[in-house]
Amino acid sequence: MIMSTIEEKLQAVRRSIAQAATEAQRPPESVTLLAVSKTFGADAVLAAAAAGQTAFGENYLQEAIDKIAAVRLALPQTVLAWHFIGPIQSNKTRPIAEHFDWVHTVEREKIAARLSEQRPDGMADLNICLQVNISGEASKSGVSPSDLPALARAVAQLPKLRLRGLMAIPEPQTDPVLQRAAFAQLRVLYEQLRADGLPLDTLSMGMSADLQAAVLEGATIVRVGSAIFGARDYS
Ligand SMILES: *Cc1c(COP(=O)(O)O)cnc(C)c1O
Repeated sequence: MIMSTIEEKLQAVRRSIAQAATEAQRPPESVTLLAVSKTFGADAVLAAAAAGQTAFGENYLQEAIDKIAAVRLALPQTVLAWHFIGPIQSNKTRPIAEHFDWVHTVEREKIAARLSEQRPDGMADLNICLQVNISGEASKSGVSPSDLPALARAVAQLPKLRLRGLMAIPEPQTDPVLQRAAFAQLRVLYEQLRADGLPLDTLSMGMSADLQAAVLEGATIVRVGSAIFGARDYS
């Protein structure tokens, strides 16, 4: 059997994003592909980087820190962006603040305040998305839509953070109509916050199985793992 390479799979994902963007009458460049490299080694990141991929998402802190160091050693001249997309324990905020460019999974003000305090001087502001628990969300993580506006206003005030937008992980659905309905809920919340004056520019939604529906509903970042790197092995 001929396995496609990471480069070929990246190209296929890029085509699929471009196709959905075109259908939505959006420029394909308005969607950032975040390659979710959790459980895969630095070699997989290097292969993707060689194929032009620059943004990587990680869920597990220690694994990520080791991988970031290994990749930096191998590619000292290449600037990559690292996004933390896993659940955040409050005693683990410091290494997140020190090693990442983005955090997608902020759901409490206390966590945001710690990230703000712990972001090292001299580093750019840490880009933040608030994780929202839209109805029917599989994981119970995320702020409720009713608590979202107060959280967004509080996080927007914190120094060394830049509130960029919203993130969600809807319950997996195979029907594209249902996929789009969940993403549309997040888009409406995002538009309400923007109408209230918050300068948001990021909707982080869509994974390997539903990225086209997410792009059709306005995703600006899609988080794609298995479609690029293959099935994950957690054993
Ligand atoms: C693992 C993960 C992804 C990628 O999932 P795939 O189905 O492999 O594309 C995206 N977002 C989050 C938050 C994840 O944990």
